[in-house]
Amino acid sequence: MDQFELKCIECGQVHDMDKPAYACAKCGNLLEVVLDPEVSKERLAKASHLRRPASVWRYRELIPIGRSSHIYSMSEGGTPLIKCDQLGADLGLKDLRIKFEGMNPTGSFKDRGMTVGITKAKELGMTVAACASTGNTSASLAAYAGLAGLKCVVLIPEGKVGLGKLAQAMMHGALVVSVKGNFDQALELVMSAADRLGMYVLNSVNPFRIEGQKTAAYEVCDQLGGKSPDYLYIPVGNGGNSAAYWKGFAEYEELGVVSGHPAIRGIQAEGAAPVARMLKDKSAVLTPVKNPDTVATAIRIGNPANWKKTVRALKESGGGASAVTDQLILKAQRAMATREGIFAEPAGAAALAGLMKDVELGNVDTSATIVCVSTGHGLKDPDIAVSQSAKPHTIGPSIKELEKLLGGRLR
Ligand SMILES: *Cc1c(COP(=O)(O)O)cnc(C)c1O
Ligand SMILES: [Zn+2]
Repeated sequence: MDQFELKCIECGQVHDMDKPAYACAKCGNLLEVVLDPEVSKERLAKASHLRRPASVWRYRELIPIGRSSHIYSMSEGGTPLIKCDQLGADLGLKDLRIKFEGMNPTGSFKDRGMTVGITKAKELGMTVAACASTGNTSASLAAYAGLAGLKCVVLIPEGKVGLGKLAQAMMHGALVVSVKGNFDQALELVMSAADRLGMYVLNSVNPFRIEGQKTAAYEVCDQLGGKSPDYLYIPVGNGGNSAAYWKGFAEYEELGVVSGHPAIRGIQAEGAAPVARMLKDKSAVLTPVKNPDTVATAIRIGNPANWKKTVRALKESGGGASAVTDQLILKAQRAMATREGIFAEPAGAAALAGLMKDVELGNVDTSATIVCVSTGHGLKDPDIAVSQSAKPHTIGPSIKELEKLLGGRLR
């Protein structure tokens, strides 16, 4: 067979990779790219990929893009896996690391998906890219669409997008449409309008985006010196990224690059936790949350488009799901910032919050290698950071006043 096939996750129906497709033509389920392990092994062995700079395209042989296609890239990926000694000690953990995806070109992991998704859009000859977004997808899509000379339309839920993200989408030249409704409604709208309006949809239901995002899992293993971590904590919104990590870990294991894989713990906010609820209730189907609510706007999603993929990932990896309060998310955000110098947006602290909860419950092997994925940068959502912090103190330009203010404060 060819190295790659586009298949339905339920009925296995094979789809043409040279046409835009987001759902199975036969049964309506999600699509995924499946790679042939033998061909992939051979190609990877010839590539000496670890000699290339760390980035998404270091793994080119495992990404379903034509060998001669032009690649639209801003050196995304290659983000740091930060060893957190202070935070680890605070929690009584021996080996805690944070994969800081806020270091990507537009400040979130979405760039890993967009470099592949936009490259695919050009392969397909599309001229307009579109998405519905809680913010980071639109920021990333706008940047990459501009880079590739595509027009870009983004649909955002009215009033619920971080200021930094909105600024990015606007500055990169997207047509920004505010939809009176929540994210789930905006996604439904863009999906149903796509064919008719000739738009290529780059939400995480697009299987090529997942192919870019899975490289983060390869990267984590490579950064650990060719080993898989024991646990991976990751926030779950639409569930695309958790599914992508699982795909990456499972492929690296199947290709014999690493032995073993992590248990994946998917973390949701309590006000938007349909996946955690489903697993807790041992239910076979997901019941959407009608009015999702959380400070972590990037995971404020009630009806995760990729729920089947993410549930499969959490179960097959031997992990699970859990829900955390907004209060704990904000506590984790502050702990990362003050103890490790890592400024994440609230959703980018949800994984750590989930770990904190598991530690509290005594559910964690304290000697394990644990990776928390911090998905987006704190500058994305400055309003939250400012509203959670003490106001600056005001004094005149005098040593006396400064001394009086400091009085004891620095000791
Ligand atoms: C998109 C996003 C998520 C959620 O990822 P899903 O693939 O939708 O589960 C989490 N955190 C941040 C910062 C994001 O931008
Ligand atoms: Zn199908």
